[in-house]
Amino acid sequence: MEKRTEISTLGEFELIEKIKNQASKYRHQQSHVGIGDDAAVLLEENYYKLVSSDWLIEGVHFDLSYMPLMHLGYKLATVNFSDIFAMNGQPRQLLVNIAMSNRFSTEAIDELYAGIFKACQKYHVDVIGGDTSSSAKGLLLSATAIGQVAKNQLSLRSGAKPNDIICVTGDLGAAYLGLQVLEREKQVYLSNPDMQPDISKYSYCIGRQLKPEAQQNSINDLNDIGVVPTSMIDISDGLASEVLHLCKASNVGATIHEEHLPINAEAMETALEFNISPTTCALNGGEDYELLFTVNQEDYEQVKEIPDIHFIGYITNGKPILHTRGGQDVALQAQGWKHF
Ligand code: ADP
Ligand code: MG
Repeated sequence: MEKRTEISTLGEFELIEKIKNQASKYRHQQSHVGIGDDAAVLLEENYYKLVSSDWLIEGVHFDLSYMPLMHLGYKLATVNFSDIFAMNGQPRQLLVNIAMSNRFSTEAIDELYAGIFKACQKYHVDVIGGDTSSSAKGLLLSATAIGQVAKNQLSLRSGAKPNDIICVTGDLGAAYLGLQVLEREKQVYLSNPDMQPDISKYSYCIGRQLKPEAQQNSINDLNDIGVVPTSMIDISDGLASEVLHLCKASNVGATIHEEHLPINAEAMETALEFNISPTTCALNGGEDYELLFTVNQEDYEQVKEIPDIHFIGYITNGKPILHTRGGQDVALQAQGWKHF
């Protein structure tokens, strides 16, 4: 009998690693950075071209019972732009691929595209193509963002050096909590459709889940002060997972200080209401679409003038650890999203 190894024994990251190891040495000098960063980096004459794809699959990444199609379109675009910003670049074009069952009307697709175009207007990106197909079941979306960055401004996952300062934009954990609220209200609705949910007190968290933004402002602010992050990654699977990716790619360790994790006040209260530790949400929640990056110590004075950038720790020669409020050092562990 042929050998069969369940995908679930690997997990997403090991699977990608396996594919990466099987990919041949790149045939074209232009293929500067391939599998393993937020976007592929292609060498052009005077700059780097950046290319990145992401899926959004019904039943895996979204639930249409609480995700309006316009928001879904917006999210499809912004999560792809986020990977371009994570290379310190600017997105310029977007390709959109849709597969849908006959459950969807043309009006539904108009609404989805209204969201895509809204995000493209905001981030100054052109939709230049894609592909459309029917699907046996559900709605499958994927998009590919194309962008670019000046050669001396590229930030890879692999550039972090010991003593670099670890920074994050915005705040963490709220999108995950927004999802918990939406899931809970869905269950309440299913058991009693007459009940009108009051979700106004969770508006920040729900907004973070349904309508994520990409961090163009932070990239522009860094660019304005002439600071290039030594390494960068966007936070899609949760801070812990992304710190581990940076450490692995850069062959360094990191110390993250729990007390410096940026958590929004509403997220903090919502976490406590759900009996989850706010720190766990910040570390493992996912879908924040903030940026995690490192800067040289010399750049600290300048970077601290930028609003909404938080200093959460340092790159080290050791292992990736969390320094807790109680003063203990514990190994950072990735939960992230387990798709399989
Ligand atoms: P992100 O979370 O930033 O979107 P992923 O974890 O999806 O990044 O991907 C990490 C790297 O692996 C990227 O370079 C991506 O292009 C690559 N990758 C992901 N899936 C595949 C695949 N099926 N085949 C080849 N490369 C892949
Ligand atoms: Mg990414």
